[in-house]
Amino acid sequence: MLTPGQLTAIQRTVPILQEHGEALTRHFYQRMFQHNPEVRGFFNPAHQHSGQQQRALAGAICAYAQHINDPSALAGAVELIAQKHVSLGIRPEHYPIVGENLLASIREVLGLAEDDPILDAWAVAYGALADLFIQREAAIYQEQRERAGWNGFKRFVVSRREAASDNIVSLYLKPADDAPLPAHRAGQYVTLRVVLPGGEAIMRNYSLSNEPGADCYRISVKREGGEGTPPGVCSHHLHERVRVGDRVEVSPPCGDFTLAAPGARPLVLIAGGVGITPILSMAHEALAAAPERTVWLIQGALNGLVHPFADEIAQLKRRYPGLRVHVRYSEPLPEDRLNAAHDGEGLIDEALLDELLGREKAEYYFCGPTPMLRHLCRLLARRGVPPEDIHYEFFGPAQSLAA
Ligand code: FAD
Repeated sequence: MLTPGQLTAIQRTVPILQEHGEALTRHFYQRMFQHNPEVRGFFNPAHQHSGQQQRALAGAICAYAQHINDPSALAGAVELIAQKHVSLGIRPEHYPIVGENLLASIREVLGLAEDDPILDAWAVAYGALADLFIQREAAIYQEQRERAGWNGFKRFVVSRREAASDNIVSLYLKPADDAPLPAHRAGQYVTLRVVLPGGEAIMRNYSLSNEPGADCYRISVKREGGEGTPPGVCSHHLHERVRVGDRVEVSPPCGDFTLAAPGARPLVLIAGGVGITPILSMAHEALAAAPERTVWLIQGALNGLVHPFADEIAQLKRRYPGLRVHVRYSEPLPEDRLNAAHDGEGLIDEALLDELLGREKAEYYFCGPTPMLRHLCRLLARRGVPPEDIHYEFFGPAQSLAA
């Protein structure tokens, strides 16, 4: 429990964190990887390189300081992070490692004396936050044991492999022990752990792209990198080396980007590129639960070569009269204009939403590149869609979309 003096000390750090938060978190990660190399494997070096991880942590620390009087305002962010921690196998013993390095970083970056009251205040505040996460994560681990039947990583076999587009491959995964597979909730992701040829084990999150209740999990992975950037480590491995019959390790489905109970209002699902993966699973789940409901699937892709799941979506459309599909290519190829695989050209914008949806009230779920998420959040807010009807998923460390 923070004393009133400690609350004030934390609040006083807000402007400092706003200015120096990223310097602090950059220092923190470097320090932690140097002093505690055992936790390195939980972090993706590409997110360190791009600065996304440092920005995400700086934003989270600052938000915590701002809401130190009422951390319940951060419940949504806490849930997202707790789900991610569980998917990666974070345990209570990891929290003191983070705490120690964080406090030392605050002291080192801000140039504070060992006995500065700010350090005491942050030690208590970090302890309270760690307890919150540890409790919620224990509950998620428990839910997983009951619902999925396992915690941590379990061996799966690649039972099928097929191209979803020129740059996305789908892998169908079955438990190696043939145990029944628990149904995921549409929108959830698993963590895949693979061992690279040099022996290094890496972990990455992948949304499940198939219908819940199937006898396998399907992940659909975009080949990352190229054109001047290094190949994405995991996606390259999955595209180039992993074949039918190979084994991978998979954690139980996690994540709270899931559909609310079916209502009377239309459901609008919007996907950009590989962001189709959770969205397609949601389309399956929503239509199976309420076949007559109006479900809009608005899909953006660069062009026809990288337009994933066109056949599967066409089949869904034939089966469910309530499904309406609009496909947009932002950079169509000349040959795209000769076939009927897309309905429009350009980005998903206000004019398109006006044309397709008018001003009817609807629930929105979307996934895609960060600029698209930012654009849609602003667009929907401008159209008066209340925050509780706007749901989205990041394919990387969660960021503020306000900037
Ligand atoms: P990384 O090695 O992590 O590299 C990522 C990018 O950074 C690449 O473009 C690479 O070129 C660039 N990069 C790396 N190092 C450097 C450097 N030194 N200089 C310049 N550039 C560099 N992805 C999917 O494909 N399908 C999904 O369904 C999916 N679902 C996800 C769900 C969630 C909840 C999350 C968080 C992520 C999801 N992802 C999904 C993303 C996925 O987890 C991986 O991040 C993605 O596959 C890239 O991993 P990688 O190892 O291939 O690339």
